[in-house]
Amino acid sequence: MTRALILGGTADASLLAAEIVRAGIEAVYSYGGRTRAPADQPLQTRIGGFGGVSGLADYIRREGVTHVIDATHPFAAEMSSNAVTACAETGAPLIALERAPWAKVTGDSWIEVHDVNATVAALPESPAKIFLAIGRQHIAPFAIKPQHTYTLRFVDPPEAPLPFAADVIVSRGPFTLDGELEMMRARGIAWIVARNSGGDGARAKIDAARTLGLPVIMISRPRLPERLRAESVSEVMQWLGHRTCLGA
Ligand code: NAP
Repeated sequence: MTRALILGGTADASLLAAEIVRAGIEAVYSYGGRTRAPADQPLQTRIGGFGGVSGLADYIRREGVTHVIDATHPFAAEMSSNAVTACAETGAPLIALERAPWAKVTGDSWIEVHDVNATVAALPESPAKIFLAIGRQHIAPFAIKPQHTYTLRFVDPPEAPLPFAADVIVSRGPFTLDGELEMMRARGIAWIVARNSGGDGARAKIDAARTLGLPVIMISRPRLPERLRAESVSEVMQWLGHRTCLGA
């Protein structure tokens, strides 16, 4: 019998969970525990780390997991690498549900970098209004350029003081082009820092930057071990041996 483990936390993981339930497949949805009130899922849910590779391998064996779907954020490199190793160890087949990264199109003005430190270096020296569209655990290095006014956007209000004064927006999204244009215009944003997540859920800010002719410092994805990849929920359902009624 199939018993799938969804490593989740993304909009695609939620779509997949709904489709898996519709197909009558038994599955567990795992959250990393990064957000205070994660979205409800229509299936068994667990929250928090497994305890590294060995913890995940133990979980797979103990729970009789037959298939693992890595539908985490493309920047969740540790979880994704652990899944590759734990699945190799236990023999559980693994597939990653991962949208293609965004590609630069005409009108985009991107500076492509590989990590947060390179992002800080790429920012101008003269004061500017900057929208830092990255997770709160990555903002500390920007404290060395205190001349800028930073706008941050988080799903939950920050629990601890931030490493520098900032304009904080608390919102879970989804974000629309009109909404992003309004937010950027109202604040006089001149630069955007983003991670190349891909997919549609987070792309409105990139479209808004193009519309406004603003530069984007785009952090490319971390390199991950080779694994089977799917770009849509329906591909994952086929891999699980089921047809899907979603066009996703
Ligand atoms: P990570 O750095 O790859 O994961 C760190 C540890 O968190 C993992 O080793 C694992 O702990 C636990 N973990 C992560 N995802 C899990 C899941 N779905 N189920 C159970 N445990 C999980 O990933 P991250 O800390 O989540 O995020 C890394 C980057 O991705 C950050 O920049 C973050 O802003 C971004 N991001 C992630 C998500 C997401 O869905 N995870 C969503 C939005 C943005 P153990 O080793 O103990 O198993």
